[in-house]
Amino acid sequence: MLYPINEIFYTLQGEATFAGLPSVFVRLQGCDVGCAFCDTKHTWKLEPENVISKEDVLAKLNDSEKYANFTVDNLLQEIKKYKNCRHVVFTGGEPGTFNLSEIMNILENQGYVTQIETSATEELKISNNTWVTVSPKINMPGHKTLKPTAIYRANEIKMPIGRIEDVEKLKKFLFEYNINDKLIWLQPISCNKKATQICVDAALQNNWRVSVQIHKFLEIR
Ligand code: SF4
Repeated sequence: MLYPINEIFYTLQGEATFAGLPSVFVRLQGCDVGCAFCDTKHTWKLEPENVISKEDVLAKLNDSEKYANFTVDNLLQEIKKYKNCRHVVFTGGEPGTFNLSEIMNILENQGYVTQIETSATEELKISNNTWVTVSPKINMPGHKTLKPTAIYRANEIKMPIGRIEDVEKLKKFLFEYNINDKLIWLQPISCNKKATQICVDAALQNNWRVSVQIHKFLEIR
């Protein structure tokens, strides 16, 4: 199995339950969900002409569409370079496109906690213990449908909020899928002030939580 990797980096997880925790991020290339507010649009296309060497991917300093194909062993080798870190986040792009069971199981057997950040538009192929963060992308331009199995597998739901309509969309989503046992996080899009106020108000009214992307306040990746 080869994984198209856009970047691997070590920083603090900035969002939701694990906010503040040192984590290795493995960013997979490829996403056809098409969210207008996406802040990683450079990860959308999976074009062979954008393949570069693993060394060049690891040396990248700026966002780009370039990626390299990594094996499980290649990934393990890179993750283990961050010796004190025990948390690995698979993100994207849409990491749910890929079968991540093997790498996740190996990492967990070696004492790591793994996490996936997904839009829930793919059937997840992951380990039993992976922490699943679902950021449901409802009615996006890519016309992808949500996969109930991915939604019910979630440990937490993290909803990007830009307008009050997004809160209504979340309520409808929770009702439709009868979700009442998961952590619910509201995340203001781009740390926008108005969106943040909407999140605070909705969190207080519904006993939800607010995720403020602390990496942006700390001015780290
Ligand atoms: Fe961007 Fe994520 Fe939406 Fe894909 S699912 S377009 S990576 S925000």
